[in-house]
Amino acid sequence: MIKKILVTGAMCLALYSNAFAQNIIQSRAYPQNYFRYPLDLTPPTTAGSFGELRPSHFHSGLDFKTNQRTGYPVHAAAEGYISRVRVQFGGFGRAIYITHPNGYTTVYGHLQSFSPAVIDLVKKYQYEHQTFEADFNLTPTQVPVKKDEVVAISGNAGASAGPHVHFEIRDSKTEETINAQLFGLTIPDKVPPTITAIGIYHLNGKPFSEKTPKEFLGVTGSAGNYHLLKPQTLELSGNIGFGINTSDMNSTSFNHNGVYSIELKLDGKTVYTFAVERFAFDQTHAINAYIDYPAFESFRRWMQKCFILPGSRISLYPQSVNNGIITFDDNATHDVEYIVKDVAGNTASLNLKVKSSPFTNPQPVKPIGTMFYYDKRSEFSNDKVKVVIMPGNLYDDLDFQYSASAKPVGAYSAMHHIHNRLTPIHDSYEIWIKPDVDLGKYTDKAVIVSSWGGCQGGYFKDGYVISQVSAFGDYCIKVDTVPPVIHPLNIKNGSNMRAARSINFRMSDNLSGIKSYTGTIDGKWVLMEHDYKSKILSYTFNSDIAPGKHVFKLTLVDNKNNFSEFSADFSR
Ligand SMILES: [Zn+2]
Repeated sequence: MIKKILVTGAMCLALYSNAFAQNIIQSRAYPQNYFRYPLDLTPPTTAGSFGELRPSHFHSGLDFKTNQRTGYPVHAAAEGYISRVRVQFGGFGRAIYITHPNGYTTVYGHLQSFSPAVIDLVKKYQYEHQTFEADFNLTPTQVPVKKDEVVAISGNAGASAGPHVHFEIRDSKTEETINAQLFGLTIPDKVPPTITAIGIYHLNGKPFSEKTPKEFLGVTGSAGNYHLLKPQTLELSGNIGFGINTSDMNSTSFNHNGVYSIELKLDGKTVYTFAVERFAFDQTHAINAYIDYPAFESFRRWMQKCFILPGSRISLYPQSVNNGIITFDDNATHDVEYIVKDVAGNTASLNLKVKSSPFTNPQPVKPIGTMFYYDKRSEFSNDKVKVVIMPGNLYDDLDFQYSASAKPVGAYSAMHHIHNRLTPIHDSYEIWIKPDVDLGKYTDKAVIVSSWGGCQGGYFKDGYVISQVSAFGDYCIKVDTVPPVIHPLNIKNGSNMRAARSINFRMSDNLSGIKSYTGTIDGKWVLMEHDYKSKILSYTFNSDIAPGKHVFKLTLVDNKNNFSEFSADFSR
């Protein structure tokens, strides 16, 4: 018998139609024709869609293409005021936020430059706080903007893969980010999504893990009509979860983007829906609960699960019955249908038949390790190690396993195998490791290091090195006593810098990473900009430096307070 149909979704599901998007799953209507596109380039085209799958996050906006160039004027999408300005080494690089009177905020990222008024405010902030990175709020009267006004110049700043404008529309109150295409900012699109494979997961009452028996089945088809490569009737019994490999293109670019929605139907009734309408940033890591994370971690495969893990809290599942898990235990043949849509309403579907057979739940098996429950505080400890996971960090119950192996060369503890990397952590958990070698005078230099080389920070307390880490895996203690290294690129003592535009450096650190850098000229703090792509740290000369002799100094400090200094006399 098939499980009773219960609609468990918290959101009220509705089908809205507007001039562009046909029968799109969304929880509410959004203002149409209020916002304009941030660029004047036509047709508007995107390299990345809203909700697109990215490592450890859903893409939070639309990436508007800029002909692989920087320097296009960026326009205010509607009237309002610049409410926040951000300068970051990575991330959006340079970004502005405009708050609008209708309750929404628009965000523009990877900018090359701001408007003159904002440039002045940023510079003031940077010098006052003696920092390159800046993030501050503005009052409504500081920089009001009109619709269409040029508010910035497009760029490639921060962690972008190429020139483009990252654009978001957020709910000003909740800060949830919303699919901008639902506001009528459509992209020409007549191309339906593509389906390349499906997944079958034999769950049978057990938590999902890398041990869940599964099969991936090839799919063939085109123009929105897909079917299984091999048998059209699958023989299944027990609690089954389905999955799908799917992506989408639009009419104006060759980029493979994310789809808008996935619906799974059993005998004509919807048992699961997923739609990238809106989400909160603190839930974006739940993408690792949405995808088959073991498959992604093992072979970079983006299999999208059509069943919901109990610990996953993200607002992208408007409707589900029994979390999308289907129980096949009768002798009938059932119809399963996948319906995949892009945000323009172009549809791809795949139908298959399931021959069901009777099923008895297997006897519960005893855990091999320690049972951790996704909704409870979990702890594991022995005389060398302690692991504490707060509720909300596991997506499903877990048979937690631990072992240790010999102390790696240069380490101060054994290598502790904290479960394995195929189970994701939503945010972080606490790990305590006791040194096996006396740390002596190095207690304040000790850090926890993962086997894949990443320093995880840490501090010494009560005989342990403690840190918050964001993944399961193998960890040990090391100490960082080595100062960071300064590599001057165009300055040495006595340099003539008359023709130079800037003073440039690279910097590196062996373990804990660089915490801060400070540049001065003649003892006065100067702005050093740090570029994400070139990794170059640079001071750009301005009129403050008069012709004559000067002293430039750079100090680097790593996260364990080891520091190095560079000093050079130069003439200008
Ligand atoms: Zn983006």
